[in-house]
Amino acid sequence: MADDRSCSFCMKLDVEARYLIAGPGIFICDDCVRLCAQILDDQLTHSPAGTASAVLPWGELSDEEMLYRLPRMRALADQAEDGLQQWVTELRRRSVTWERIGSGLGMTRQSAWTRFHREVVS
Ligand SMILES: [Zn+2]
Repeated sequence: MADDRSCSFCMKLDVEARYLIAGPGIFICDDCVRLCAQILDDQLTHSPAGTASAVLPWGELSDEEMLYRLPRMRALADQAEDGLQQWVTELRRRSVTWERIGSGLGMTRQSAWTRFHREVVS
């Protein structure tokens, strides 16, 4: 389980960000929110309406810059996995069946149970 939370977009750690806003298994920092707002403002001003476009996270990064960020990418994957585990745990707390959880995850009941079942420690 990841101990440090980080922005899912720029990988900034929570101690490096002023604010870190949580989503389902992900986080976004205040700098990325501002950048997104700026990108949206630019897109809405200069692009025709109704066209969706993606801004890829690696953009202009060199191989070395991408490799430097790889450990944080791994931490983000762990963070997302922790978020998924928390959602499944909450669904189980609400007595939702493994059958329905598995169906929601596109896997069998048994696969869902094997991957997400945790002993409840009290
Ligand atoms: Zn960020």
